[in-house]
Amino acid sequence: MEDLLDRLRRLACGRRLLDAAGAAGGVHLVGGAVRDLLLGHVPRELDVVVEGDVDALAAALGTVTATHERFGTVTVRDGDCRWDLAAARAEDYAHPGALPVVRAASIEEDLRRRDLTINAIALDLAGGELRCAGHAFDDLQARRLRVLHDASFRDDPTRLWRIARYAARLGFELEPHTARLAAEAVAGGAPERVSRARIGNELRLALREPDPVAALEHAVRLGLAPWLAPDRDRVEAALRLLPDGEGRADLVVLAAALDIVAGDADQRLAGLDFSAAERAVLRAAARAPAVASEALAARRASQLAHVLSGLPVEAVVLAGAGGAAEPVRRWLDELRHVALRIDGDDLLGAGVPRGPQIGRRLSATLDLLLDGELADDRAAQLATALR
Ligand code: ATP
Repeated sequence: MEDLLDRLRRLACGRRLLDAAGAAGGVHLVGGAVRDLLLGHVPRELDVVVEGDVDALAAALGTVTATHERFGTVTVRDGDCRWDLAAARAEDYAHPGALPVVRAASIEEDLRRRDLTINAIALDLAGGELRCAGHAFDDLQARRLRVLHDASFRDDPTRLWRIARYAARLGFELEPHTARLAAEAVAGGAPERVSRARIGNELRLALREPDPVAALEHAVRLGLAPWLAPDRDRVEAALRLLPDGEGRADLVVLAAALDIVAGDADQRLAGLDFSAAERAVLRAAARAPAVASEALAARRASQLAHVLSGLPVEAVVLAGAGGAAEPVRRWLDELRHVALRIDGDDLLGAGVPRGPQIGRRLSATLDLLLDGELADDRAAQLATALR
């Protein structure tokens, strides 16, 4: 098998890391990066644990762009490269679900605090030696997700969400004992002990997965989010309608999972730390079934425009996925681009007093243009708007 250090060296940021780490020892690549290298995947990020001076390695790599005092971790960047460095540490939990209390430790102890065996492997950057906790190599080989100890989910129930993501991304199965522990933790109310803000964070991470619907499906199957009902067919139909470069696919996925169960998107989203703009999209998308009916009932282009204009594109495509694909496609491809050749200034210039009737006249004129009852001609449009 090709040496893991060679694999790492073939990545530009991996080579930089190896050069900075030098031959001194005590610097380890850890977590998902080693797992991914062993699986022959390109690591999504490079996490490094140092038994020794984190600051010296940081200085050799680039600029520290973030420091998390509590966990002794720093983010270092240089050009397109980013590394997350941490001092080797152990974590103790004051009570279930609490943030851990951290103390300095050896790399072996550091590996034992991790979530899953497949993430508890360290690659020594000086000699290429691999260390692991538990059955890491067997589990990787057998494509199994296994926690490192029985109290794992009680200590940190967000690990259940992590399992949902890994199951979706890697296609690994839960090892039976871990599956039992997960079921017991869920039955014992572990998911409810996680703060709303952390659930929001886990939800956003799930939505960033290559297959976010699968990640949500696993979360539901594990009992983490009975308030979600992911719907792959609906998402795929909606995403097929989403114009290139427009809208947020992640919000389409979430909205499709939310609005089947929950008419009240606001209540579902409370405390999950979605931005006001994101909540507005999700709120509008929750009305997609009603919008679909209205779009199907519209007999004229102008009526369709009144139903769909002003709605976020995510809500529009979800309405399309709800049976109104044809009118939605017509709106997106054609009708929404129809514009008058006159504007409010033209009406003011022609003597119409400032006020709401400017908007009313323009809107009525646009309706005629949309319905094919008015020429695409400035003079004709002005005459109509002034009638
Ligand atoms: P990715 O999801 O991008 O593949 P990853 O598997 O490396 O990344 P991260 O969230 O980046 O996961 O965390 C890095 C490593 O830190 C994990 O591989 C795991 O070893 C450890 N870790 C992260 N979160 C937890 C947690 N809640 N409990 C225990 N260990 C954790």
